Amino acid sequence: MSQPEATGPKLNWNIKELLMWATGYLEKKGSPSPRLDVELLLTEVLQVARIQLYVQFERILQTPEKDRFRALLTRRGQGEPIAYILGRKGFMSYDFVVTPEVLIPRADTECLVEAVLQDHQHITGSLRILDAGTGSGCILLSLLKERPNDVGIGWDISQAALKVAQHNALQLKIPPQKLTLSCRDMTLPESWQLEDPVQILVSNPPYIAFEEEPGLSLNVRNYEPRQALFAPDSGVFFYKKIEAYAWKLLAPGARVYVEIGHQQASQVAEIFSTPAWHQTRFIPDLQGINRVLATTYTGIPPR
Ligand code: GLN
Repeated sequence: MSQPEATGPKLNWNIKELLMWATGYLEKKGSPSPRLDVELLLTEVLQVARIQLYVQFERILQTPEKDRFRALLTRRGQGEPIAYILGRKGFMSYDFVVTPEVLIPRADTECLVEAVLQDHQHITGSLRILDAGTGSGCILLSLLKERPNDVGIGWDISQAALKVAQHNALQLKIPPQKLTLSCRDMTLPESWQLEDPVQILVSNPPYIAFEEEPGLSLNVRNYEPRQALFAPDSGVFFYKKIEAYAWKLLAPGARVYVEIGHQQASQVAEIFSTPAWHQTRFIPDLQGINRVLATTYTGIPPR
């Protein structure tokens, strides 16, 4: 793999020149946000705030800085997501550690968190929240930050993901007694057991149909964990499992929030049309697409 020749014939690159040159390089490599990418990589290498790149426009990079920048730029040029290169991603107002073992938190998922916060804003007592498929922990830990009286339970089938979630919980200073993370496969009926019922269930399960893989961008396909992305049964497999088993852990009146794919609204609503659920609604994302299905447990088992 060829490396970008940031040293070129010129030896002393300042920030301004490097920004321009590297932006052109990433543009040619097909990055949709080349300038932003370069700025983020440079702030990482120089350990400065983004505004400092402009304040220090004339600053000449030292050789180790230049080498490190070139290494990161090469990775980005090959299509690696910027969040994996930096090892972190902002979600809600928090910084999450991410590794290639977890899905990169998406801005669209923030509307799920916001809906939960809004629906429960008048309940200040302690609620129990279960996040099925917690990944980096972004949904659950953001909720616990915003609702410090609540208690969180996070499940994931991946031990590596749970380690990342644990790391994030520590960084975000979530009191250890407020959070239980455990390795569970939500597709198995026997996984759905807890000592006490929960009042809120959240999940952003894998929902991309295997058939859709060829249409996905390469930086998702080649870098994000398959286990977190794809689901059988045209992508709705996990919703069926949640619908069938979650009631066992829910108190009547408990709410469920699941993120859904952009064309799955009617299919998922159909799945949650058994007597177990009522007050079902969709929550749109920033583009106005139905992104989350919210529903309430009636207290009647589905079947
Ligand atoms: N809950 C995590 C997120 O929303 C992980 C989701 C997943 O792995 N499918 O990012």
